[in-house]
Amino acid sequence: MLNHAVFLTQDTKIGESTARPGRTCYTARQKMSRMSLPTIQKIRVRAVRVPMAEPHRTASGMIGESPLVLTDVVTDSGIEGHSMIFTYTPAALAPTAELIRNIVPLVQGDPLAPTAVAEKLNQRFRLLGTQGLVGMALAAIDMALWDALAREHGLPLVRLLGGAEHPVKPYGAIGYDGVDDCARRAELWAQQGFTGIKDKIGYPTVAEDVAVVRAMRTAAGDDMAIMVDYNQCLTSAEAVVRLQILDQEGLTWVEEPTLAHDYAGHAAIAQAADTPIQCGENWWGTLDMRHAIEAGASDLLMPDVMKIGGVTGWLRAAALAQVNAIPVSSHLWPELSARLLCCTPTAHWLEYSDWWNPILRTPLQVSDGLALVDNTVGSGLEWDEEAIQRFAA
Ligand SMILES: [Mg+2]
Repeated sequence: MLNHAVFLTQDTKIGESTARPGRTCYTARQKMSRMSLPTIQKIRVRAVRVPMAEPHRTASGMIGESPLVLTDVVTDSGIEGHSMIFTYTPAALAPTAELIRNIVPLVQGDPLAPTAVAEKLNQRFRLLGTQGLVGMALAAIDMALWDALAREHGLPLVRLLGGAEHPVKPYGAIGYDGVDDCARRAELWAQQGFTGIKDKIGYPTVAEDVAVVRAMRTAAGDDMAIMVDYNQCLTSAEAVVRLQILDQEGLTWVEEPTLAHDYAGHAAIAQAADTPIQCGENWWGTLDMRHAIEAGASDLLMPDVMKIGGVTGWLRAAALAQVNAIPVSSHLWPELSARLLCCTPTAHWLEYSDWWNPILRTPLQVSDGLALVDNTVGSGLEWDEEAIQRFAA
């Protein structure tokens, strides 16, 4: 039934005699274009340990440096795509870098087609699972492939994804630093024009949590959106009690009050509290997000571009959030996340962080309280090679 075939042009039909219903027939030029997709020639993997200007304290531990794995995909057309992933602990740095190197032979020679590569690798690791280090390694490759694809087309990533660059609303981060330091930092963010701040709490008593929140409010002003983050340190029963008190403080959200994968616990907290619950940075892939949404675990969503599955995973998470009408904020990776929020229908807040600025030539710029997404080609990562050598692990 030739009449069901789709002919894109009238000239040089390929396979006209064999066309079957639903098949697309291409011109010779289109076929050549399809055949000339660049391929993955090699992947370079490097590990660095980037010290933080000041240690970042949370209720679940302190971070004094960023162990990062940098991945560079090189195509046969000479294009390079970059990504970085954060292993949280130096103990995971070398194993994660080695894991990425071990995955390289699985994709070498494959077309520069990030979603196809993601499907292939997800299938390849189905029996082991794609959480933890495997998920991080796959995200490293995915993010580098998307960067390379954007550069191959000479486009900013936002435009490759069909979006348009625009400023996004960032919030500044404050650690588990006590009343005086938290107030001082809140004031500094306000002076820089930020309209949101997020503080780590989870002090021994809720009275101390409240004292820190009120000190920040006084320092930063009534218009400042204040979020707080428990970093999973409470039981769900403890969280219900604390949130009844915190509900009086006008908080924009309370983040991860209990264990990230305790969806039933988070749902109970969300039911009991008026303040919105924010979760997502520890969900592995969009299936975790689906389960959390189905459980009613979180009023807001905060995927982490690495743990959610790279750019490919983020796009699917953004679609899931859209159909469920839930606002999406980002977690770390400010350069890439700002670009992805430009392509996220329910975009909410960008988590701003300067932790990784020392190895970047063009860190994300913030002006008058807005993060500026520029139109540079790719996903916004350009290495400072001298700094990378200095911090090499
Ligand atoms: Mg958090």
